[in-house]
Amino acid sequence: MIEIENVHKSFGSLKVLKGIDLNVEKGEVVSVIGGSGSGKSTLLTCINGLEPIDSGTITVDGTVVHARGTDLNKLRQNIGIVFQQFNAFPHLTVLENVTLAPRKVKGMGRAEAEEIAVKQLTHVGLADKIKVYPGRLSGGQQQRMAIARALAMSPDYMLFDEVTSALDPQLVGEVLDTLKLLAEGGMTMICVTHEMGFARDVSNRVAYFESGVMAEIGPPAQIFGAPENEATRKFLSSVR
Ligand code: ADP
Ligand code: MG
Repeated sequence: MIEIENVHKSFGSLKVLKGIDLNVEKGEVVSVIGGSGSGKSTLLTCINGLEPIDSGTITVDGTVVHARGTDLNKLRQNIGIVFQQFNAFPHLTVLENVTLAPRKVKGMGRAEAEEIAVKQLTHVGLADKIKVYPGRLSGGQQQRMAIARALAMSPDYMLFDEVTSALDPQLVGEVLDTLKLLAEGGMTMICVTHEMGFARDVSNRVAYFESGVMAEIGPPAQIFGAPENEATRKFLSSVR
């Protein structure tokens, strides 16, 4: 599980996370909502050790992420992350994009890596695109490829940072469907999202962030139906 305890994080004099506490159980899906600049992305980058923290602890399956001596490469193999921007290697085919990390990082042989890649690409509905270059894919297909690429490392955790925000509206659904399938398969996920319907339907819990504070967390029925926090209520009425 992911255990986040009293995490503080600043960029220079700007306090971005002000004492975040959050435990994510195995198989749980937690959606993180909140306004721009509230610290949502920063939290994700702290969880997989891309960013240092000022104080507090983040523990993933018992490994303290920011402890001296923690093997961050090994940790990141177990925590897939997908961002808003597509970041495919344009000169590699879809299949090569997805097999790259298993081969380079895990030292997997080509045949095994390709078998896993084809399985994951099939899972995200891209079985017919394996020989194509990413430039020929739609935005939604590129995001699904990015998800397959992360899954090819067989992570126990997946972090999603607004993966549909850069997509044309008609392409959002296919990516959300992929996330939903993954959630139904039991993947432990933290999803930063602006898609309130997705957060309501797919998450076990929804966390509302405001100014570096987790102002409220609870089951979707509470957050969307009867938010206890005035700020949560205001935010939700502004996005609906
Ligand atoms: P969110 O994802 O909720 O929109 P972020 O976590 O991206 O918010 O950012 C929180 C705050 O931290 C913002 O004010 C942002 O400008 C600032 N910030 C984020 N990353 C950096 C960085 N690398 N250097 C300096 N400031 C940053
Ligand atoms: Mg963000």
